[in-house]
Amino acid sequence: MMIVMKSTATEDEIQAVIERIESCGARAHPSRGEEVTVIGAVGDREHVARLGLQGAPGVEQVVPILKPYKLSSRQLKGDERTVIEIEGRRIGGEHFSLIAGPCTVESRDQVLTAARLVAAGGASLFRGGAYKPRSSPYSFQGLGQEGLRLLAEAKAETGLPIVTELMDARDVEAVVEVADVIQLGARNMQNYALLAEAGRTGIPVLLKRGLSATLEELLMAAEYILKEGNERVILCERGIRTFETATRFTLDIMAVPVLKQLSHLPVVVDPSHAAGRRDLVLPLSLAAAGAGADGIIVEVHHDPDAAICDGPQAVPADEFAAYVDQVTRVAEVVGKQLSAV
Ligand code: PEP
Ligand code: MN
Repeated sequence: MMIVMKSTATEDEIQAVIERIESCGARAHPSRGEEVTVIGAVGDREHVARLGLQGAPGVEQVVPILKPYKLSSRQLKGDERTVIEIEGRRIGGEHFSLIAGPCTVESRDQVLTAARLVAAGGASLFRGGAYKPRSSPYSFQGLGQEGLRLLAEAKAETGLPIVTELMDARDVEAVVEVADVIQLGARNMQNYALLAEAGRTGIPVLLKRGLSATLEELLMAAEYILKEGNERVILCERGIRTFETATRFTLDIMAVPVLKQLSHLPVVVDPSHAAGRRDLVLPLSLAAAGAGADGIIVEVHHDPDAAICDGPQAVPADEFAAYVDQVTRVAEVVGKQLSAV
């Protein structure tokens, strides 16, 4: 259920509603908008209905949320969109973010070079995997804790906030020490225990769509994070499995406007993993920006031929500034500004 408070509701009235929701074993998720506060009540619908909140002081309306996902649903926030701020960079609303960096952290020299170059090129955040989900157990699995340490060094030098993947709940403490955004990979989208663990950190989470997941399944996965009281979830379309074999995956560009109709959460696009090929990264990025994406997460490497992982899809670092320029021009056409500091 969704309890829409009156624009004149006082803080005491809002608190009273929250307490009543929690008294019946449900959880209250207040969302304080510029005009009104809306309180999502998640729990047994019958119990919440029996509280008789309709007509309570300060309450404008009690409305059921019809979708199976509640906290991620657009309905919860009306026209308002979630904007996530990460050390001055904003994702969502009128802001466009570029999250760029190598697939994986390979060495100190590699990660610092990449970070310097993407910072100079105008990136908003820096990406790099210390723990890598590889299709083969014989492939390089990432530098682990040493990789996290190198990411921290890259941040210290460039100031770029760090986006890095959490694959295993046992690594959560080490990852939260360095990550400004926790990435949950496509292969873990339905690892519900991991979703909840990431939710409990309170750190923004970039949630990738599973390889064969529907948009509803993606939003239900987001719900696991939000339900832990973590409101800062970024959805990511990264290509899905289809019958097409010409490219690594098929970028579902429609996911961008559809997710934005269904949810208030920001939506970013990963053209690199969708395409698997560098030559497609720019056209897919332009399409994503034109479709209204709130940002792009793109792989960049200073020497793609020497990359340990995903070199064929990496944008060469010396081409990154020109890439940013073209993508932001399209983002501006749909009313978004690049968010960097
Ligand atoms: C990645 O971003 O490095 C990655 C492995 O992505 P995905 O989970 O989308 O395959
Ligand atoms: Mn990769």
